Amino acid sequence: MSKAWLSSLFVRCAQSLGAVLSPMRCVLCGTVTESPLLNEAGHALCPRCLHRLERTEQFHLRGNRTEDMFYTHPQFERGACFLFYDKAEHVNRLVYAFKYFRTPELAYDLALQAAKEALPTDFFDTVDVIMPVPLHPRRFRQRGYNQSEYIARGLSDVTKIPYDIEHLTRMRNNPQQARIRGNERARNVEGIFAVNHPEELYRKHILLVDDVITTGSTMRACMDAMRAFRGARISVFALAQPR
Ligand SMILES: [Zn+2]
Repeated sequence: MSKAWLSSLFVRCAQSLGAVLSPMRCVLCGTVTESPLLNEAGHALCPRCLHRLERTEQFHLRGNRTEDMFYTHPQFERGACFLFYDKAEHVNRLVYAFKYFRTPELAYDLALQAAKEALPTDFFDTVDVIMPVPLHPRRFRQRGYNQSEYIARGLSDVTKIPYDIEHLTRMRNNPQQARIRGNERARNVEGIFAVNHPEELYRKHILLVDDVITTGSTMRACMDAMRAFRGARISVFALAQPR
C-alpha cells in the first residue's frame, strides 16, 4: 500500500466522520446536503437551490444586456453575467455572504458552476487571460480576500485559462459603489485603476471579472485604464446582475 493511498484513505474517512458529526447545511434553505458545491470552509449550496438560481442565459447570446452596457468601448469584445438577482432574493443573499461574511469560497463555487455551463458555448474560446477587478490593498487587508479573485480562480480552474492579478491595480481606496447613488458612481471610480507592464499584454484578449455588474461604472473605469494594453480586446464577466 502506498503512502499516498493511505493518506487519501485517511482524508476520506475524516471527511465522512466530519459529515456525520456536523452535517453540511445549505446556506440558502438550511437542508442537510451532500452538495456538489462543498468546500473546506463548510459552506454549501444544495443541488436544488443551485438549480433554482435564475440564469441570464447570456453566454451564447450576442447583444445581451451586459454587452449593451459596454459596446461603445473601443476594446470591448464580449460580455455575460451568470445570474439575475433582486434585492430580497437568494442570489442577493449569496453575494452578501461571499462579499461581507467571509465566505469567498461560495464565489469560487459559483464561478466553477458558471464556467461549466459556459463551456459548451464559445464565450471563453479566444480569451488569453482572466483578470479580477482589484481591491485597494487597504480594503483587501480589512476584508482578508478579494472575492473577484476567487471568481477568477473558479473560472480558471474549469477553463484552464490563466488568471492574472499583477497587471491591474487599484490606486485609490474609493467609497464602496453600493453606497453611492447611481449617477455618481462613474465619478467615484474615475481614474482609480492603473496598469503595470502594459507591454506584456500587447494584443491579448482579457476577460475582466467582478462579482456583480450594476451600472457598469467599475468595469468601465478598469477598461479605461486598460487602454494602455495596446491592441488588447476586453471581455467582461460577473456572477450576477440586477434583473
Ligand atoms: Zn438549498
